[in-house]
Amino acid sequence: MQNRHLRFLTYFIMGYMLLAFVWWSFLLFTKNRDAFHAKIELQQIGMAAEGVIQSPMDFYVSERYQELVTSYRKQERMIMGETIFLSLSLLAGIYVIYRGYRREVASSKQQRNFLLSITHELKSPLAGIRLALETIAKRGDQLPPDKRQMLSMRGIKEADRLNKLVEDLLLSARLESAYQFHQEPLALEELVERIVLQQSQQNPEAEIDFSASTSLAHVSGDRQALTSVVINLIENALKYSSPPAKVVVSLRQQGDQLCLEVADQGIGIRGQDKKQVFEKFFRVGSEDTRKTKGTGLGLFIVKELVKAHHGTIKVRDNQPQGTVFAITLPIATVKKEQSSLPVV
Ligand code: ADP
Repeated sequence: MQNRHLRFLTYFIMGYMLLAFVWWSFLLFTKNRDAFHAKIELQQIGMAAEGVIQSPMDFYVSERYQELVTSYRKQERMIMGETIFLSLSLLAGIYVIYRGYRREVASSKQQRNFLLSITHELKSPLAGIRLALETIAKRGDQLPPDKRQMLSMRGIKEADRLNKLVEDLLLSARLESAYQFHQEPLALEELVERIVLQQSQQNPEAEIDFSASTSLAHVSGDRQALTSVVINLIENALKYSSPPAKVVVSLRQQGDQLCLEVADQGIGIRGQDKKQVFEKFFRVGSEDTRKTKGTGLGLFIVKELVKAHHGTIKVRDNQPQGTVFAITLPIATVKKEQSSLPVV
């Protein structure tokens, strides 16, 4: 609210200054013209008194008159030029303030969303772990072993979630400073296949298909970073689909690039949101109404990791519904059969 008042005050002052410029310019024009006419009269009288001209009309063909006209036009051009320059500078200033304000609003909305989501993301696994431990502590000996096992697994799952959140926060902070990658030739199809298998086991109700072209080249990359990229995309595809989720992961080679696509048939992403999903803390909609868990860090991390591997990431609509995230990564210069370095 205070920001809005400040913005209006700034616009008001700038508008006032713009009008003042125009008004001062107009005044300068008239003063310049008056001074020009006064000089003409003065010169006419002076030259007539000295006998240089016979009649006042002779003055208009004299050299002195030409000089006065040239100087008058020069002054006029100067006033005009300065008015245009100052007005344009002011307009540019207004535009910069407006753009800054829009960014400020978007960023504070994202920060607020982040605070709300992080509070939720920190509190809910902690509550889950506490509840599981409390139940085991109070009624552990009366509980059947399978129930005890189920509670322990729930606690472990929540602890993993907490761990992932902390890792994401640390990783996103490190990605913004200098982050050291460990580059090695990787068989991406094996890495993706392993993740797809893991995700299928963790989400038995979901259908995750994986297809890859044969004899794909290796990429040169950081195994941990690329694992995080693929997991993030598959987890999002599952999270933003109504169950039972159907996800198709495909890998193919296109020239000197490997193209990885993760396609879902979920809720999809609207046009204007597609531009923002890779921004830090951005989540579609508002934290007050959203039902899914998350922090808005996942796609930011994915984009930064892909960028660090000299790759690209794009998002588009899936048909008839859902989203496709498409990544390209340059293939390693070392050929698969020649590589002596460890592969996945
Ligand atoms: P998080 O999932 O933690 O919110 P992300 O950075 O992974 O954060 O994603 C940012 C936002 O992009 C999500 O909040 C969601 O609104 C949207 N999004 C990401 N992946 C998908 C998807 N596959 N389908 C629909 N929306 C998605």
